[in-house]
Amino acid sequence: MDKIVSLCRRRGFVFPSSEIYGGLGSTFDYGHYGVLVKSNIRQRWLEAMVYERDDIVLIDSAIILHPRVWEASGHVEGFTDPLVDCRTCKLRFRADKLEDSQCGRKPSKRPGETPDCDLTEARQFNLMFETTVGPVAEAGARAFLRPETAQGIFVNFKNVLQLARRRPPFGIAQVGKSFRNEITPGNFLFRVREFEQMEMEFFVPPADSEQWYRYWIDARFDWYLKYGLRRSRLRVREHGPEERSHYSQGTSDIEYEYPIGWSELEGVANRGDYDLTRHSEFSGTELEYVGPEGTERYVPHVIEPAVSIERIFVAMLVDAYDEEEVAGRERTVLRLHPAIAPVKAAVLPLVAKDSGMVEKARALYEELRSSHVVEYDEGGAIGRRYRRQDEIGTPFAFTVDEQTLDDDTVTIRDRDSLAQERLAIGQVAARLADELRKPWATPKGD
Ligand code: ATP
Repeated sequence: MDKIVSLCRRRGFVFPSSEIYGGLGSTFDYGHYGVLVKSNIRQRWLEAMVYERDDIVLIDSAIILHPRVWEASGHVEGFTDPLVDCRTCKLRFRADKLEDSQCGRKPSKRPGETPDCDLTEARQFNLMFETTVGPVAEAGARAFLRPETAQGIFVNFKNVLQLARRRPPFGIAQVGKSFRNEITPGNFLFRVREFEQMEMEFFVPPADSEQWYRYWIDARFDWYLKYGLRRSRLRVREHGPEERSHYSQGTSDIEYEYPIGWSELEGVANRGDYDLTRHSEFSGTELEYVGPEGTERYVPHVIEPAVSIERIFVAMLVDAYDEEEVAGRERTVLRLHPAIAPVKAAVLPLVAKDSGMVEKARALYEELRSSHVVEYDEGGAIGRRYRRQDEIGTPFAFTVDEQTLDDDTVTIRDRDSLAQERLAIGQVAARLADELRKPWATPKGD
């Protein structure tokens, strides 16, 4: 993980937030390449979940919803983690994660393991961030930043059902920021207090819920394989009855083997009719499906795949990271899927002082950037420029050299195999589009 954090810092993917003020724990800001990777992850998710289907529509609900929403959802009462304080070192720990925590005085020990540790009894701590709506902090103005995007979908169920003219099975998808006041955040972006969630609530006839639950576990698992995560680092772990929420009829985590061990990347849950029923009760608005004749009437069950861009971001960078020796020199390379890589191609004049090469390289760059994110770079020795691109995972580089001036051909360099071949400058755009469309498998094997 340290190597990933340092690469992200060095190459401007991710910075500690508010760094000039000493940083704010477990909060991060994204630089140019980080924003591009996040945007690619979001796009690929939207393609699979919405654009390439005709049974899922989008919504973008508010971050601060009516406070009653969180009463109905059970978050006010139950969205808590057990917390213990250590009176000696003044640190706080999750009572259910003591095994994985370090004592503040003796990091080789667990909290509670040394004679000096003085832990309080566990008490429940609500993870929702509170705020006040309106200028006066008076009673009744208390509100919450959403800890998940899902509730914004449930409260719009009726609007969508009527206006999008859908009938189950159909889904509503949302991407947006969620906030949780995590007790023990950390492990880089894996557990942060502010993250971008991608959730989809799929409403189905009750009798079909098990089948759709299995469908979505498989579909989401395959999405990770498609975008290059190694199969050996992915697994599905089904929760036992003691681990599930009381209303859940089944929950599975798609886990990735992060440097911190196997951990939840995405959750897929069969939530039954809990959410719609609760919001019907609390709001007085009937949230149900009524068939065209009015005779068929039921509360749909809900299957929910939920994930954050942050956890995908870490998994993809960890999976892609590689170090190797090439011709006696160390190179660091991110073997990212081309559809995830922040920059698709670099255009490089071999000699920056050669105006003929610069002119041709700039013209090629102008042509390519109308369709893709590409970079033009003339700074420094060519080997260093290649290594810079390898580090940010750019899959292809086109180099304009002496021969280009004679015959209008350039070299194409492949990030992973390092193979180089020549092609006519006029064919570059079509070749790049072609390469980016191809199915891709990581050269790191399964
Ligand atoms: P965990 O047990 O790891 O705290 P959770 O079970 O509370 O996670 P869910 O409520 O199921 O998580 O949230 C759905 C998804 O949102 C998770 O699978 C994860 O991808 C993402 N997520 C949840 N909390 C965080 C966080 N603090 N930082 C980054 N991503 C998060």
